[in-house]
Amino acid sequence: MLLRHTPKEISERSAVTINPAKTCQPIGAMYAALGIHGCLPHSHGSQGCCAYHRSTLTRHYKEPIPAATSSFTEGASVFGGQANLMQAFNNIFSVYNPDVIAVHTTCLSETIGDDLPQIRKKAIKEGKIPEGKYVLCASTPSYVGSHVTGFSSMVKAMTEFSESTGEKNGRVNIIPGWVEPCDMEEIKRMSALLGVNAIVFPDTSGVLNAPLTGEYKMFPEGGVTMDDLKATGDAIGTLALGEWCSADAARELDKKSRVPASILDMPFGLAATDRFVDALRTIAGVPVPDQITVERGQLVDMISDMHQYLYHKKVALAGDPDQLISMTEFLVSIDMLPVHIVTGTPGKKFEKRIREITAGMGVEVNVKAKGDFFLLHQWIKNEPVDLLISNTYGKYIARDEDIPLVRWGFPILDRQGHQYFPTVGYKGGIRLLEKILTALLDRKDRDDEEKTFELVL
Ligand code: SF4
Repeated sequence: MLLRHTPKEISERSAVTINPAKTCQPIGAMYAALGIHGCLPHSHGSQGCCAYHRSTLTRHYKEPIPAATSSFTEGASVFGGQANLMQAFNNIFSVYNPDVIAVHTTCLSETIGDDLPQIRKKAIKEGKIPEGKYVLCASTPSYVGSHVTGFSSMVKAMTEFSESTGEKNGRVNIIPGWVEPCDMEEIKRMSALLGVNAIVFPDTSGVLNAPLTGEYKMFPEGGVTMDDLKATGDAIGTLALGEWCSADAARELDKKSRVPASILDMPFGLAATDRFVDALRTIAGVPVPDQITVERGQLVDMISDMHQYLYHKKVALAGDPDQLISMTEFLVSIDMLPVHIVTGTPGKKFEKRIREITAGMGVEVNVKAKGDFFLLHQWIKNEPVDLLISNTYGKYIARDEDIPLVRWGFPILDRQGHQYFPTVGYKGGIRLLEKILTALLDRKDRDDEEKTFELVL
């Protein structure tokens, strides 16, 4: 459905969301759970919820998403789903034999009041969880929060398995937040270049960007192992990338095992990557290797070569808070003007942070947490932009307003490549910049008159 009937006049709206800029909590919990090796996510609710969560992830990652469900019918909806979950433990461990089952709730089981830790306790007591197998629990009611908070809750649940032996193991925990599998790979590559022995969790690389080999593996090679999750308690520090996605888990580890936590922005763009590299360098006590310096220099070179095409171009953004904060900072640093910024995830601190980043731009900025695409479209109608950066849902606005669109974020349903080409780090910055420049220059080529239509730009 196109949005050409969206009115320009903005009226106060608090009781209705139109075209949300978020999706539901369990999708985030399911994505995080897939970053544990040998883990089967389990949706404690109705089959319909589970089917929706799986299909959304499948459409974005173009991979089959394995997940089980408590399959609530009328009985469980009234009396609670304990019996269903107990039966599920039996079935899943005997049929699929995962190392871990990661259970998250849904709106329905939360409304009934099912107590997952209590059900897990009972299952352990009754011998339904075999020796050497694990069950994780996360509370993810979707009438609050978003896929981002669901992701964060599942990552925090992973810290339950950390063990402290009293002796540090010299390793560094990196909680990458909700980034693509290739971004997690890139974070590992950069850490290795700096000589950091990292435990990255969750880690969906090798799970949701695995090769087609002709042989189906229900549990692919990738994912953080349970042994590594246990070892997080002995790490010398934790770098949590993103306040929304990763900070709760890092703080929990600090509280539980005295592993000092540093909360950083996600390393998108130049400045946020500088801070990430600096944190890695400091924690590892090493100088920055030449390879990293070269990659940084290449990004700076590209920015300066193409600055004239970026200067004062107005941008509208929709997405998730951690990503948007770093992206906004990157755009400001290359002299673009992010003027409309919306996230569906609640949190006033997001608006405060964006205002701080954009304070020196000298133009009015619209920013809203718990906002929606409808509001973003109205802002654009009132003040047009040169570029829209958002997930696939932004394509309707882009078409109606004839704006170039860079697809970035979650979900991307109608394009490929996001699983394979990282956008974190300096190399990722080059990829981001290439996508932005291609969108702007394609538009310039389309719109130029013959006399200004150039072969070399
Ligand atoms: S009922 Fe709740 S958990 Fe289920 S799909 Fe809808 S929003 Fe998500």
